[in-house]
Amino acid sequence: MPGPSRRLPGGMGGQPYPGPPFGERRYNAWNDYVKRRYGGRVQKVSVAAGFTCPNRDGSLGRGGCTFCNNAGFTPGYLDRRDGIAEQIDTGLRFLDRRYPGTGRFIAYFQSYTNTYGDFARLRESYEAALAHPRIDGLAIGTRPDCLPDEVLAYLAELSHEHIIELEIGIESCDDAVLRRVNRGHDFACSVDALERAAVHGLEVTAHLILGLPGETRAGMLEAATRLSALPVKALKLHQLQLVRGTEMARDWQRDPGSVPLFDEEAYIVLLADFVERLSPRMLLQRLGSEVPPALKLAPHWNMRLSELAPRLSAELARRGSWQGRHWQDCGA
Ligand code: SF4
Repeated sequence: MPGPSRRLPGGMGGQPYPGPPFGERRYNAWNDYVKRRYGGRVQKVSVAAGFTCPNRDGSLGRGGCTFCNNAGFTPGYLDRRDGIAEQIDTGLRFLDRRYPGTGRFIAYFQSYTNTYGDFARLRESYEAALAHPRIDGLAIGTRPDCLPDEVLAYLAELSHEHIIELEIGIESCDDAVLRRVNRGHDFACSVDALERAAVHGLEVTAHLILGLPGETRAGMLEAATRLSALPVKALKLHQLQLVRGTEMARDWQRDPGSVPLFDEEAYIVLLADFVERLSPRMLLQRLGSEVPPALKLAPHWNMRLSELAPRLSAELARRGSWQGRHWQDCGA
């Protein structure tokens, strides 16, 4: 059975998007959507439930994806030795200082593969988070090959009374690239997971890395069209960053030419091209990411992450363009 019940005001139905050109932003921004839907900010509190990943525990492989070091997306405030309730309390103390006045929080199961493992244990972890009095829902990061229908049906049941964001790592739509980064699944697997999640009525955020080795510019832009045609609610886009301790970072140190990296100017131009090809209904939850400085090998940008959004809007304005401007030209 689902965890404790707190029905959400405003229902769970999607609100209509404002339509292009989306005001000054010129793209369909997740934060604006969340404010429309929930009446204010919803902040994620990271938790680590001690799950692993089939690409690390030997089921699929041991080395993991060549870009992955889970320390790169674990916030400094998180202590994995604590129980889930304690982790949430610690995270809330940090977030209350950083974002005073935030009304709602959801527990973010981010590191490793958070739908991989014994079903009873998954449920116990999710329900421990939902039992916290200040937690209104869950964001669950996972791989497309770790989503059995049993788990999807359970999350769908939870979503009737809680915010449930399912984040699926697609990473690339190109099978050759997925093989090269040792991902352990192909794009067809992602399509299957997205379609099954939709059958269960779940809203999915897809995670995509722009610039993986072997990825072409045409392939990345085509990904905008391909994902627009699938049941994806929102996208998290990430520029490729090299994290210390990863196989990809070692490849780059041996031969920098083998792993081309975007500078900030080129990334903004790529983002604008990508967003122009994206369906206007697709929400953009993230435009890039920032690995902790101590872990990041490259690239080093002068631009802060918070500047990405206004720089993208400025580039779209310079072109007289907006999200979806060329969506239908792409055969969507
Ligand atoms: S990126 Fe995800 S799937 Fe790949 S090795 Fe890391 S935790 Fe596992």
